[in-house]
Amino acid sequence: MIKTHIAGYPRIGAQRELKFALEKHWRGEISQRELLDTATALRLAHWQTQIDQGLDFITVGDFSLYDHVADHIALFGCIPPRFRHEEGSPLDNYFHMVRGKRPKASQCACHADTFALEMTKWFDTNYHYMVPEFDDETRFNLHAEALLDQLAQAKLLQHPIKITLIGPITLLLLGKSKQPDFEPLNLLDALVDQYTTLLGQLKQAGAQWVQLDEPVLGLDLPASTLALFDSTYNSLKRGGLPILLGTYFSELEGHISQACKLPVDGLHLDCVRGLKDLPAVLDWLPNYKVLSLGLVDGRNIWKTDLEQALKHVTAAFDSGKNEVWLSSNCSLLHCPYTLADDTGVLPAVRNWLSGAIEKLGEIELLKQAANALLHGKALSTETATALARHQAAVAERHSSNWVHKPAVKARVKATEGLSFSRQSPFKVRRAVQQQRFNLPAFPTTTIGSFPQTADIRALRKRLKAGLIDQNAYDTEIRNAIADCIQKQEVLGLDVLVHGEPERNDMVEFFGERLDGFAFSANGWVQSYGSRCVKPPILYGDVSRPAPMTVDTSVFAQSLSKRPVKGMLTGPVTILQWSFVRDDQARSETAKQIALAIADEVIDLECAGIGMIQIDEPAYREGLPLRKKDQAAYLDWATLAFRISACGVKDETQIHTHMCYAEFNDILPNIAAMDADVITIETSRSDMELLRGFGEFSYPNDIGPGVYDIHSPRVPAVGELVRLMQKAAEVIDPAQLWINPDCGLKTRGWPETLEALHVMMQAAKTLRTLH
Ligand code: GLN
Ligand code: ZN
Repeated sequence: MIKTHIAGYPRIGAQRELKFALEKHWRGEISQRELLDTATALRLAHWQTQIDQGLDFITVGDFSLYDHVADHIALFGCIPPRFRHEEGSPLDNYFHMVRGKRPKASQCACHADTFALEMTKWFDTNYHYMVPEFDDETRFNLHAEALLDQLAQAKLLQHPIKITLIGPITLLLLGKSKQPDFEPLNLLDALVDQYTTLLGQLKQAGAQWVQLDEPVLGLDLPASTLALFDSTYNSLKRGGLPILLGTYFSELEGHISQACKLPVDGLHLDCVRGLKDLPAVLDWLPNYKVLSLGLVDGRNIWKTDLEQALKHVTAAFDSGKNEVWLSSNCSLLHCPYTLADDTGVLPAVRNWLSGAIEKLGEIELLKQAANALLHGKALSTETATALARHQAAVAERHSSNWVHKPAVKARVKATEGLSFSRQSPFKVRRAVQQQRFNLPAFPTTTIGSFPQTADIRALRKRLKAGLIDQNAYDTEIRNAIADCIQKQEVLGLDVLVHGEPERNDMVEFFGERLDGFAFSANGWVQSYGSRCVKPPILYGDVSRPAPMTVDTSVFAQSLSKRPVKGMLTGPVTILQWSFVRDDQARSETAKQIALAIADEVIDLECAGIGMIQIDEPAYREGLPLRKKDQAAYLDWATLAFRISACGVKDETQIHTHMCYAEFNDILPNIAAMDADVITIETSRSDMELLRGFGEFSYPNDIGPGVYDIHSPRVPAVGELVRLMQKAAEVIDPAQLWINPDCGLKTRGWPETLEALHVMMQAAKTLRTLH
């Protein structure tokens, strides 16, 4: 028997209805009731779509007003105390927990600013979840009303219902211990009790199945944690609701046999990322259990090769399985709602793409094809035509000369075995560069962007709408650059930037100028809360048809005697923040981008630009989930950076920038990138992050961010001096630069100028102290 379902659906709405409703509600423009009505309408529409597309189950529990992990915190009542004693409705408190709250001017200090839960990346996706906080005071207290309400709404559609929840072990491991020696897993028994009660209630209320997701089974886990699964799932069984254990995002390797033996009713396998596990799962999963095959990629936008997928379905039945479910590998949360009619995408490319709604269609098509095959029946004409058309699109992409550019492939091939090093070691380069730039001790700079004012955003909109022509736009952008340079001169910064007013987004800007990228008009994906991103679609071999930033950089440099950094986005970040090809290794795509960036670097150098920054904020986040895969990734990511950076002469100074991340375990790799200067986000860690760089004896120059650009707060001089003194304890002061944490594009001008002025004062003080 074959059944179909999904692990979850995008919740933001086809036209981002949820985003707009949330933001209106937060601005006080619509009531809580109106917001909840929007949410209900969206859920009903999403379930109806699943029914219309032929799925055997509708999935309930995947929707969220902000974040599904935060919803579990509310569901199990483990809201940290600082969000509890507020007056206001549960929903107000929920938003307070996920967004934080500023004290009203009228309130006294006891209503101190309560900072939101921390936010971090959901495994290796670009979705951010709210981090639960646990300590030995944590108590669970089931609040199933909201979920039961959703279930009641879903029941009106009279279709079988599968609930989806995060499994208890994953939920605890996603959280953070708020006490030094406290182990969140100590709370497991108490939490499992609540889950068991909940499952009983859900069964009572009419749910047929529950999918409990334990993606942590795809991580490296200590034996003591693995040992907890058996007893946990034994207890959960008592809820009486059939359990599908959900796994995704990486191979189960090492944990396959355990996953197959757990006392659950079915196992869901990610057949995109964990396909290697399938033969072993077919072997070890008892035939009476449901095997759910996640064959459609919920994290990418390419049409699924259904003939290939069909082979896996057949293999499952050949191995003796009785009941096979077909699904997406993970929630469709990570892909756009639809791409079928997106007029923004090149027509040649559009036919290769599949958004969430199209993926539902793929699952249904696969089911029909598999059923026909199993029962030795012919496909209906309609299905046969749809399948043939689908497969033709898949084949077309694989052989298209929009995708395959022999010259690009040949160029990458020619790099094999090359090590891509700068001409001389850093010490030599540094002397040459010092002679050229003659910078003071503690040189001051910024990360690249300056405030993107409403005027600049309006200007871009007018250009897009055809209300102004390119010339008029360029003139305004040049004015903005000139203004930005002038302001930096007045501040007295040592190394300037042009301010990036011409960039909407640091990846999109380059994608639009490189061959091999397409863009959607409406391909939004939730990043967190109401925030959405529209990742570029990297569909083909990448090359650079023409210089991308040279004119702008040369113009900016012409306005100042001080060095103005050329500003580029690095290959790993471009890769990481795009939908990328699945028909070749990521490392291969990264090399192609790297060569394109390398061309730009050389052109900038030839045009007289002496300092070039290649940002790699996503370098750390590309790290694979499993340790065994990490070294290979770090090697090619580092190589990609070196390919883009190392073609320049010793006298050209290469900068890079990375945002806040755990750097300690990858310091040798960061050093191997061999940028002359790296700027990093450190202020949130009170310079603690820098200690690792010191202990590692990081050899090149480093600019630890001295103030947090996420807040409008202007720091005090003494504070910055203290931070830099702390930095100077662990890093040779001669290596230190002074800069903010990250780009300033989300800030306003007044606080930016004030904060940079303070930073300049701090630099002056430091120069007298050292
Ligand atoms: N140069 C970019 C900027 O300043 C870097 C942004 C980032 O690190 N995310 O905006
Ligand atoms: Zn940054």
